[in-house]
Amino acid sequence: MTRRLRLAIPNKGRLVEPTVRLLRDAGLVFEAGERALVARVQNFDLDILFVRTNDIVEFVNDGVAELGITGLDLVAESGTDVPRVKMLGYGRCRLTIAVPNDSPFRAAEDLAGLRVATSHMALTRKFFEARSIPVNVIPVSGAAEVAPRLGLAEAIVDLVSTGSTMVVNGLRPLEEVFASEAVLLANSNALEQDGPAFAQVETMLSATLAARDRKYLMMNAPQAKAAELEDLLPGLESPSVIPLAHEGMIAIHAVVEADQVWSLLPRLKAAGASGILILPIEKLVS
Ligand code: AMP
Repeated sequence: MTRRLRLAIPNKGRLVEPTVRLLRDAGLVFEAGERALVARVQNFDLDILFVRTNDIVEFVNDGVAELGITGLDLVAESGTDVPRVKMLGYGRCRLTIAVPNDSPFRAAEDLAGLRVATSHMALTRKFFEARSIPVNVIPVSGAAEVAPRLGLAEAIVDLVSTGSTMVVNGLRPLEEVFASEAVLLANSNALEQDGPAFAQVETMLSATLAARDRKYLMMNAPQAKAAELEDLLPGLESPSVIPLAHEGMIAIHAVVEADQVWSLLPRLKAAGASGILILPIEKLVS
């Protein structure tokens, strides 16, 4: 009998929704109740544990869960070398040094001898040490952005995605300390023992993420235009070219980057394509 793997995911905060959506898009069927701590996946040997985002690295490292999804910033902050199986491309943010708008500081060096408030102590220390800038790192458990106003610190190091929280708090970014996104982690012992099951989960998530970024294009065109159209379609592999019943006409099928579709369409039409269909891809295994 195969062992059920445990996957720890955040139970609160901004990584919950995209993580649950990824697992559902991957085809896993489970109920994520408001207060449930564990959800049994009905169609795969997997249990999902809903835990605090901050505890996931430790859970995976200790083997409480064989797999986990959390922010790369928290993995780096923990200092553990828990295997990172796959970067997931969502939850993107930057750990950034910020200072009040009206402060004179222009570079990290200008903060020498001053106080920097952060909840990412290890990454902040590492950054300033690597640059040989002596600063006094002040730990805060959250809401670092209010620290300068409270007179707790001259600068902060905090996570930013759009930058709007900083603007609201009268702060401007100075330098990036660390770039983060969600990551799939694995327990190192389990990775050795349960290799095939891990590979299956990884493929499932990778195929789902890869499909989201691409579209399947189908179009008809005169045979004489095939080369010109193929040049416009640098897809995964060369496009499929299929003869149509109507003499001298072909159908071209290609996988293209989703964000290029709209700029591609007028060029395809100008090159002779007609009846262009844009289809979503459910899963893409490369
Ligand atoms: P939360 O539970 O909402 O505090 O989630 C924290 C995690 O979400 C962080 O450790 C980051 O990995 C990720 N994250 C993504 N974007 C942001 C952001 N703009 N601010 C804070 N955390 C973010």
